[in-house]
Amino acid sequence: MAYRGRFAPSPTGPLHFGSLVSALASWLDARAHGGAWLVRIEDIDAPRAVPGAAEDILATLARFGLHADEPPVWQSRRIARYQETLEQLKATGLIYPCGCTRKEIADSLLHAHARNTTLAYPGTCRDGLHGKPARAWRLRVPDGQAAVMTFEDRWQGTQTQNLATEVGDFVLKRADGQWAYQLAVVVDDADAGVTHVVRGADLMDSTARQIYLQRCLGVPTPEYLHVPVVTNDQGEKLSKQNGAIALDAETPLEALGAAARYLGLELGSAGHTTPEGFYAAATSAWARRMGVRKTGR
Ligand code: GLU
Repeated sequence: MAYRGRFAPSPTGPLHFGSLVSALASWLDARAHGGAWLVRIEDIDAPRAVPGAAEDILATLARFGLHADEPPVWQSRRIARYQETLEQLKATGLIYPCGCTRKEIADSLLHAHARNTTLAYPGTCRDGLHGKPARAWRLRVPDGQAAVMTFEDRWQGTQTQNLATEVGDFVLKRADGQWAYQLAVVVDDADAGVTHVVRGADLMDSTARQIYLQRCLGVPTPEYLHVPVVTNDQGEKLSKQNGAIALDAETPLEALGAAARYLGLELGSAGHTTPEGFYAAATSAWARRMGVRKTGR
């Protein structure tokens, strides 16, 4: 299958250094493979979306020379696909409506914690709503050995998560009517034919859920690479909320050079003179570091 990678920003603010690192890493991986690079705007979380942020991110990417090979995909225009997928899962009995409020779940987790058992969703509504109104839709995860998901991360090595004990049946459509990130990302990556996911390690914890959902839907599982998350002095992930500053689009080479250094890439002097020089040097450095050969696959 031909290589297809993507960058999937949430429009909650302008592109900052942390998101530039993810964008650059996914772009370099696509170029090093000789593959395609796509951009998807993850704007379905309406309460968190900031008006104008998506356009701003797209303009900054263009200013930095990170051009996508196809027009951007907007999640907000793909709601019908998410609904269709939910119906498909309903028909197989893999999902069920859940009537639990946040408080009920928190209380039962506290209770479980006191007994020193699992912190995952306890499966209260698995066998019925107990007279409560349906609020969210959850995907049933397997029990026992089948719940143990293992995958090879190209940067971080072998990862294992037990979906039953560490996660529990997870939400695909939220109580507030919003589509869950887990459902949207799996449907979108599959529909776009994404073969390689390169993103920040803050999403590592979601990957086992996404692989499980891919199997339920019978779609291929991409390769995964999670780059270390950029943190501030307090060790928190950079975000608009904790004061990450927007990138200066007037001096792209400076920020790109810093992002490449963060990824451990040795560029040599040619990498610092022009954007073209930077991208050529960074693509070869990435290919060397990750052991990638240009095959288009
Ligand atoms: N929209 C997510 C974010 O900005 C990224 C999702 C992904 O790459 O799978 O954190």
